[in-house]
Amino acid sequence: AKYVYDFTEGNRNLKDLLGGKGANLAEMTNLGLPVPPGFTITTDACRHYLAEGSLPDGLEEEVAEHLAALESRMGRKLGQADDPLLVSVRSGAKFSMPGMMETVLNIGLNDESVHGLAKQSGGNDRFAWDSYRRLIQMFGKTVLGIDGDLFENALDRLKGRRQDTDLDAGELQRLVETYKGIVREQTGKDFPSDPREQMRLAVMAVFDSWNAPRAILYRRQERIPADLGTAVNIMAMVFGNYGDDSGTGVAFTRDPGSGRQGVYGDYLQNAQGEDVVAGIRNTMPLQELERIDPNSYRELLGIMETLENHYRDLCDIEFTIERGKLWMLQTRVGKRTAAAAFCIATQLVDQGLITMDEAVTRVTGDQLAQLMFPRFDSGAERQRIAKGMNASPGAAVGKAVFSSERAVELAGQGEDVILVRRETNPDDLSGMIAAKGVLTSRGGKTSHAAVVARGMGKTCVCGAEELEVQTAERRFTAPGGVVVAEGDVISIDGTTGEVFLGEVPVVPSAVVEYFEGDAEPADDLVKAVDRIMRHADGARRLRVRANADTPEDAARARRFGAQGIGLCRTEHMFLGERRQLVEDLVLATTDEERQAALDALEPLQKADFIGIFRAMDGAPVTIRLIDPPLHEFLPDLVELSVKAATQEATEKDRRLLSAVKRLHEQNPMLGLRGVRLGLVIPGLFAMQVRAIAQAAKEVPGARPEIMIPLVATVQELESVREEAVKILAETGVDALIGTMIEVPRAALTAGQIAESAEFFSFGTNDLTQMTWGFSRDDVESSFFHRYLDLGIFGVSPFESIDRDGVGRLIEIAVAEGRAARPDLHLGICGEHGGDPDSVHFCHDVGLDYVSCSPFRIPVARLEAGRAAL
Ligand code: ADP
Ligand code: MG
Ligand code: MG
Repeated sequence: AKYVYDFTEGNRNLKDLLGGKGANLAEMTNLGLPVPPGFTITTDACRHYLAEGSLPDGLEEEVAEHLAALESRMGRKLGQADDPLLVSVRSGAKFSMPGMMETVLNIGLNDESVHGLAKQSGGNDRFAWDSYRRLIQMFGKTVLGIDGDLFENALDRLKGRRQDTDLDAGELQRLVETYKGIVREQTGKDFPSDPREQMRLAVMAVFDSWNAPRAILYRRQERIPADLGTAVNIMAMVFGNYGDDSGTGVAFTRDPGSGRQGVYGDYLQNAQGEDVVAGIRNTMPLQELERIDPNSYRELLGIMETLENHYRDLCDIEFTIERGKLWMLQTRVGKRTAAAAFCIATQLVDQGLITMDEAVTRVTGDQLAQLMFPRFDSGAERQRIAKGMNASPGAAVGKAVFSSERAVELAGQGEDVILVRRETNPDDLSGMIAAKGVLTSRGGKTSHAAVVARGMGKTCVCGAEELEVQTAERRFTAPGGVVVAEGDVISIDGTTGEVFLGEVPVVPSAVVEYFEGDAEPADDLVKAVDRIMRHADGARRLRVRANADTPEDAARARRFGAQGIGLCRTEHMFLGERRQLVEDLVLATTDEERQAALDALEPLQKADFIGIFRAMDGAPVTIRLIDPPLHEFLPDLVELSVKAATQEATEKDRRLLSAVKRLHEQNPMLGLRGVRLGLVIPGLFAMQVRAIAQAAKEVPGARPEIMIPLVATVQELESVREEAVKILAETGVDALIGTMIEVPRAALTAGQIAESAEFFSFGTNDLTQMTWGFSRDDVESSFFHRYLDLGIFGVSPFESIDRDGVGRLIEIAVAEGRAARPDLHLGICGEHGGDPDSVHFCHDVGLDYVSCSPFRIPVARLEAGRAAL
């Protein structure tokens, strides 16, 4: 096996093997840019080392060969006493993990070669000793595992008020002695003086740093697989710590914050490596390099342009200038904000570097979603009191309240409130709905609060552990003695996880205003979004519908680009004042009583549907007949029992109590609901179908689609369908009749079911719940975080479709359904319809549309476009 690649052998496509840094160093080398020579040890070698605990056979020989080649090229040997070659040993994984792993500079220095380095540099003793002390410091910390503060403190003591550049050669030489003492004291051994030994130990330390706790944590957060390993880059040192004619810097080829073109970077004279980002001295803006070293500056700008044109994207770079000579030390396609991503993509199109197709693939639905939340004005003065997890984006301001009841009460009085809890549970739903935002001190990104808030598009910061929430006392305390009592105003930023005291001003999202149709694309960002959305819409095959239950939601969905309603739930139409009628329905003992209750409900339902058909203006509307267990519409069992035991209990209360008892189920989600309800309560579905048909008759162009929930076998569907067809025929209204596929058995018998259904809509919430056997109302708060920690899944299957299991059922249903009925219309209406990965899945399996909440529609449109490109 080949474990080592010279920079001249690699290229940017070999990131798996050479890591991002190594692959891009090779790419720059091949472009003819000034990169110090060197070579890369592959991730293969790392994986072997981590698995076996030893370097793979042959690796050391291979490294020795490449080192010999490097030495002969440079005309000096590693650590050679009178004229040393020095190298850096740098980590570099496939995905950039900034600062998470280790790098050691100036390998090859020891008590002899430090004099050689001084001689080599024309008697610059100061530089030589500075390089040596840096080696011991970095090596001591990262390879020998010594507490870095011990070195820092020694340096600080020596410096006093001065800067590191004020230390002279003699002082640095003494510092080296101090450092060597620290190494001896901490490890019981001398600092290793053999250059090859230094290099070998550094390579293994870089490999080991793959499993440093912070690297593991970072990977988990960024969903980077744990088994990739890191490559190691060994390259000749160049020195920015030579004097004021030298220095080191970082730069972006354009502004990663806004995407604007220009010169963005920082430069530090007489410095090495990490100094720029570590903030040891104040850096200067890159523009000032033009004054200090115009030739290097011009060359740098030229190289940045070369890199942008070559990578056809924003790049970030690390460079060093050694006595007026520019060296490139790193480049990669740079991270950027959501706003910058859109602007840069369209700018690159205008520059002729990429096509519009590529521009669409350069941005993501998640980025678009970020741009749709209102933001805190970052220019405003603000007092940050804590930082938790950015669970659900947005900016919310309101009075702190500590119970859902208070939240509902104050919100009812027109107050903005933030619900603050240690953690939320399903009982807090009403409070969460009432609140502008939710803040918890416990729980992660899949905690109840986080999941529910994201589902509702509500701002949420969770797991702000610095906060002590004292629910009973109605207050919380924050570090520094800050106490926030009920009614005190706080601001929470769900995009960053920050919590502020008092009111931070917010600015609405220009992107939402644009989607709402209120604003012509005015600023650069909105123009970029507009262009990309138009192109995505032109490219996508999937249609996008909305989950919307009210005319208001339907109208907004339409403005956001919905091509229909994929899920109109009818159950909320039975709440509020209509509860009374539902109770009558349940209590009915005779056909007449039952029919009277249904007759009272029918006109109300009809009016609901008219509103929605009007709002959708000729676009299809899929209406799901009543789905949840009936007892959800009845009073609470406990409350009712208490009341029934008192004097004021009426005859009706007592009858209700016995009905509630009769309807009570241990597992309501697996109980009397959906189509089962329709088959058990005569006339219920018929009433709904009649209301739909009557409404459709009154709204010209209305296109109703009737959807039967929870079907498991074609016989269920058949009996409901028969009745519905009759009613439609009587009213002379055309409507498709179809079913949800949400019980695994329905997916597995889709061929039979399709005989009786004109469309399928995958209800992936229930389908996931029943396929995994996870109660979706409970698992998120009980054991999902543990599952995520254990890596059993990387993301909750309720958030993103589990392709292997649930996805497989969908594939079967699509194939067998279409085989039985070639024009079967296929969609999805679970929460997954607005999740980027799931949208790609829906495209891949050949669905006709996805349906999601109105706010997610632009995201789904964009992702559907990306999936098609
Ligand atoms: P990270 O991945 O944490 O950025 P790097 O491997 O890029 O770590 O190295 C840390 C710093 O050392 C960077 O500023 C880099 O430019 C600098 N550096 C690395 N190798 C050399 C070298 N051969 N000569 C000079 N500076 C170097
Ligand atoms: Mg770097
Ligand atoms: Mg369902």
